[in-house]
Amino acid sequence: MPEHAFSCRCGALQGTLTQTSPGEGCHLICYCRDCRAFAHHMGVADQLYPGGGSPLYQVLPNRIAITRGADQIACARLSPKGLHRWYAACCDTPLANTVGTSRMPLAGMWAPLFRDPEALGPVVTHGFTKAALPGGPKKDRGIGRMFGRLLRRSVSAYLSGAARVSPFFDAAGAPVVRPEVLSAEARRAAFATEPGKQD
Ligand SMILES: [Zn+2]
Ligand SMILES: [Zn+2]
Repeated sequence: MPEHAFSCRCGALQGTLTQTSPGEGCHLICYCRDCRAFAHHMGVADQLYPGGGSPLYQVLPNRIAITRGADQIACARLSPKGLHRWYAACCDTPLANTVGTSRMPLAGMWAPLFRDPEALGPVVTHGFTKAALPGGPKKDRGIGRMFGRLLRRSVSAYLSGAARVSPFFDAAGAPVVRPEVLSAEARRAAFATEPGKQD
């Protein structure tokens, strides 16, 4: 079974992603404003793709094991309705984004976390390209295929009970740490480089 080691920038938090088959996850670049703003907030905007794309790897959360530094897990939300954006508090490295419940068994892991990002395979999906900055792709690709696959996997995970297993949620489905919504000031700073309307 393919195993992918990952760690935060300082190394205090480490873990492995174990997959049952190669290519089980979806290597995706997300061009949405929120992912980009969060990368700015974390100070990792230098790792964005041209056009402001966030490198992500969509996986089933029950495949993620945090082997060291789980006490560093923290969670931020750009707004009260925003995704849960998990990160390592020791050095502000993004870990993954999820919705606010473990019932939707999906985590978009920050691909640069992985020791060998190449082992994740080629980027197969471009999402939210309408929000790409100049220099980015103009058309989404692979989205339908991705959601078809993710949905099938999520449904089977849900039926098997695996859905509830996640490093980010406890057995009752509550977040392992309290998510903090960014202050208005931090939000403004995170979106400061976005063209057009500011949030
Ligand atoms: Zn760290
Ligand atoms: Zn996004």
